[in-house]
Amino acid sequence: MPVGFQQRAGCPLCGSISNSPLCEIPYHDQRLASFIEQFYQGRVPLESLASGDYRIIACTDCEFIYQDPILNEDGMQALYRSWVNHAQSLQKKQTAKSRLYIQYAGQIHTLSRMFDKRPDQIRVLDFGMGWGYWSRMAQAHGLNVVGYELSAQRVEHAREMGVTVIDDLNLVEDDFDFIYANQVFEHLSNPVQTMQALCQRLKSTGFVNIRVPDGRGVASDLVRRGWNPDLDAIHPLEHINCFTRKTLIELGARAGLKPFSPPLRLSWDSLSGGIRREIVDRWLTTHLYFQSTGIAPD
Ligand SMILES: [Zn+2]
Repeated sequence: MPVGFQQRAGCPLCGSISNSPLCEIPYHDQRLASFIEQFYQGRVPLESLASGDYRIIACTDCEFIYQDPILNEDGMQALYRSWVNHAQSLQKKQTAKSRLYIQYAGQIHTLSRMFDKRPDQIRVLDFGMGWGYWSRMAQAHGLNVVGYELSAQRVEHAREMGVTVIDDLNLVEDDFDFIYANQVFEHLSNPVQTMQALCQRLKSTGFVNIRVPDGRGVASDLVRRGWNPDLDAIHPLEHINCFTRKTLIELGARAGLKPFSPPLRLSWDSLSGGIRREIVDRWLTTHLYFQSTGIAPD
């Protein structure tokens, strides 16, 4: 199957086929083509996209915003194997400022405080772990963490850093206490299916932390100004699902999850930053903690 596009079978969140387009630009359009040429530094054979349109749709029933069509399976493989810049992505992690590690450590402190047990007894899955830096941090805090990742290069790098990586979620012996998925769900063709599959590996007392780009304001921006490359939450080809807090809560609900407020994390030495983060994380953004409702989804 050559690289090309496929239609999605209705809204990826609720299944509805009732929707309204927010933006439609052929991939051969000069502005879009030159953005792709630049962003992927010439690695995308533009003729393979020529038949497709970049379409952003809003579901009329659940308000979910998504791209349709999306790349077909061969296209997705080409995108994540050859088109994305692996070297640059790794270098970004390798040369990250201490702020990134402080942020990871903060998230891991929060998760450790959500359990009344020793860190080695907390089983954590880093789903879509990338190069493995968050997993490595979780490991350094004593947690029993494993990573899962499709990219062979990233898996190899993580293993070299000493992170345990699993290849098949179905072969995992014990279910997880905590599942972390940072910047993953915006990329998935079937987000509900994936969330449900993950939740089957979650203990009934477990928690999930999903972090995706914030799609707040994207719809009105598109209507007002049209597409522009700054709209990262709907990045062409890659960010095929654009969540707001509301639609992210809906994604969790479809997998039997409800939002959970994690313990406060404030300290005197960075009080204003801490308060800002608490407000943003708790009410505004698409960084959400979930727990099981105990009710199996349909
Ligand atoms: Zn919908």
